[in-house]
Amino acid sequence: MKCPSPPPLPPRAVGAAVLALLLACQAKVSGGRSGGGGGGGTGAGEFDGQRAFGYLERQMRFGPRIPGMPAHDSAGYWMLAQLRARADTVIVQEIAHKTKSGQVLHLRNFFARFRPQAAERVLFLAHWDTRPHADQSPNLGQRRLPVPGANDGASGVAVLLGVADALNAKPPPPTLGVDLLFVDGEDYGDSWADPYAEGSDVLIGSRWFAAHLPVGYPPLYAVLFDMVGDKDLNIYYESNSQAFAPEVVDRVWRCKGSSPTSSTTTWRYRKAASTPSTS
Ligand SMILES: [Zn+2]
Repeated sequence: MKCPSPPPLPPRAVGAAVLALLLACQAKVSGGRSGGGGGGGTGAGEFDGQRAFGYLERQMRFGPRIPGMPAHDSAGYWMLAQLRARADTVIVQEIAHKTKSGQVLHLRNFFARFRPQAAERVLFLAHWDTRPHADQSPNLGQRRLPVPGANDGASGVAVLLGVADALNAKPPPPTLGVDLLFVDGEDYGDSWADPYAEGSDVLIGSRWFAAHLPVGYPPLYAVLFDMVGDKDLNIYYESNSQAFAPEVVDRVWRCKGSSPTSSTTTWRYRKAASTPSTS
């Protein structure tokens, strides 16, 4: 959904921007190779699209990752193990959130850091929970069902885990740190309500992170990945990002080499077509 708005990109961020955009470009270029999910066939430090898609499929096998449900716990422990095997440091941020209905949700943000001592940092983030109800489905019969979350949830996590693979194989330059943040409780509450209202049940993990920033933060900039697994992927300019970080938006789109809303912007997640439209 939404991410904390990063500051405008200062001149000293050029090196960081190059790395980040390279990662994104590699996602586009190397994802098209044939082969299974084993990760072979790409160079060290390159993003492996097929392997990342395997991470999407693995999440789907847990079932919907709804806070408070066993599948949510299991998926979280699986992600934590993946990150601990790849990152220099992994911090678990435990959040007890009381919903408007009085239920206490036990949520976890996972904050995986590469070169945690580096002062200059970039942040990539995604949410890993899924919506309890497909309340925006055009099919009325589906609105009480949970969202499977192949696109809305798993796709962003899959991309970030692929980035973790790339950074593990080829760490960033010594002066640059990269953080991967997997936020929880992002899509829990009423999608029509004001997410920034007091006691809101959406954007829980992101708001908690923004209120408890790590020492040395904010990063140079942040890029959020969500819903990047549609069959016919169209990515649009995001209005908040355009308003608060237009230079970052421009850099991302220059890297992609494609215009927003173009039908050519797929990142090789075509197999997501097998999931319901409410994903
Ligand atoms: Zn989402």
